[in-house]
Amino acid sequence: MITMKTKLCDFCLNGDIEAILCGTCNIKRKACEFNDTYVEIARIIKNLSKKHNMLENIELVNVIDTRMFIIIIVNKNNVPQIIGKDGQIIKEISKKIGKTIKVLSDKITDNEVIINLLKPYIIKKINMIYLIDGEKLKIIMSKQDEKNIINNYNSYETAIKILTGKEISIIFE
Ligand SMILES: [Zn+2]
Repeated sequence: MITMKTKLCDFCLNGDIEAILCGTCNIKRKACEFNDTYVEIARIIKNLSKKHNMLENIELVNVIDTRMFIIIIVNKNNVPQIIGKDGQIIKEISKKIGKTIKVLSDKITDNEVIINLLKPYIIKKINMIYLIDGEKLKIIMSKQDEKNIINNYNSYETAIKILTGKEISIIFE
């Protein structure tokens, strides 16, 4: 039998969206192996898999929750399934959780992470700059996207820091 792969035990995965975790899963959550949003997303996907069979073998690698959007990281082979035809599945998950969702594959380079997160906006150039206290990525983007990106700046910054370990600074020109 094909089953969804998550960091939760089967009992917790099949629980209601608000259900409390078992002792073992709760220890993992406290150790930051996953967050509360991970639990919610895992349960939403599990529930949707009853209706959409292709979600049955999803491997939910990680979930990052920022102020403006949630990033779902899945096994590289599962990206098309979680997005669904015309983005149908991702729209359903987004509606249930009440936030915009971005999907990333677990096997991509730091630059790909940044390019995918900032979609649909186009990056002109990424440069590494070296400072006294470490490195920083300078991301050059178009002036016309400035307003949209600035609104989500903190979310991009947080997500990129978590996913790549790198500090960024976005420049518009
Ligand atoms: Zn559990």
